[in-house]
Amino acid sequence: MSCVFTTFSFSEIVSLCNQEKISIIQLIYILEGYQLRDYLKTVWTAMKNAVERGLRAKGILPGELKLTRKAKYLYEKRCYNESADVAMNRVIAAYAYAVSEENAAENVVVTAPTCGSCGVLPSILYYMEKDRGFPVEEILDALAVAGLVGNVIRTNASISGAECGCQAEIGSACSMAAAAVAQLYGLSIDQIEYAAEIAMEHNLGLTCDPVNGLVQIPCIERNAVAAMRALSAVNLSRFLYATRKISFDDVVATMYRTGLDLNEKYRETAHGGLAQIYMEHEKNEQTD
Ligand code: SF4
Repeated sequence: MSCVFTTFSFSEIVSLCNQEKISIIQLIYILEGYQLRDYLKTVWTAMKNAVERGLRAKGILPGELKLTRKAKYLYEKRCYNESADVAMNRVIAAYAYAVSEENAAENVVVTAPTCGSCGVLPSILYYMEKDRGFPVEEILDALAVAGLVGNVIRTNASISGAECGCQAEIGSACSMAAAAVAQLYGLSIDQIEYAAEIAMEHNLGLTCDPVNGLVQIPCIERNAVAAMRALSAVNLSRFLYATRKISFDDVVATMYRTGLDLNEKYRETAHGGLAQIYMEHEKNEQTD
């Protein structure tokens, strides 16, 4: 999809909104046209389908790791006396596993912003629609805001694990999800920005080290953790946005510089980190 936001920083978007006295969502539809809704509906349907397929699926994922799918188990595994908080985190994680496992199984997913990080945004939005009852019209607006945040990152930095490590994939997905939830909660543009900023800031330096080069370990679990982190970012931004010192543009620029500084072992080559340790263990087992 072409997007007019490809030339904007987030501060320029805030200035435009303030200048025109409009909300971020109004700005998106003014600049993109209301036909964007049709595209968002298609995207949302594909995202929901991926969650639901992933929750039904059982068995082993393709590849040498022979990982068992966990989404269905996680979704159904209620603890005795489970608190509301534990249930919420378990269910959101299950949705994120569902989509990420669908990606690992080479089924249809929506890049958000990439395949490796495709579980974060749908899991949170699916939870908000299905479990919290937010209407689909509001989910589509939240999706539009997530898209805007993803575009700002893609334009001013990178969403590529091969270029900037996992911070560019999962960090970006976490920012998109946090901004989407902040929009859904009706928070201000400053709170939306701060939620996205927190979500990226605490993924800075995150390396890309997929074991055996498969988008499975650490990727699937990482999607679930990022989804839960996105919610925490929104909760902090709601209260603390007026005290912040770092802008979203600052953290995006930092992510990009950090990514370019990362040794290539940590940029999707599967030569460092968990991938390297796992390989060493395998070699040792073979020689024992
Ligand atoms: S570890 Fe690498 S492959 Fe896996 S999600 Fe992160 S960036 Fe993508």
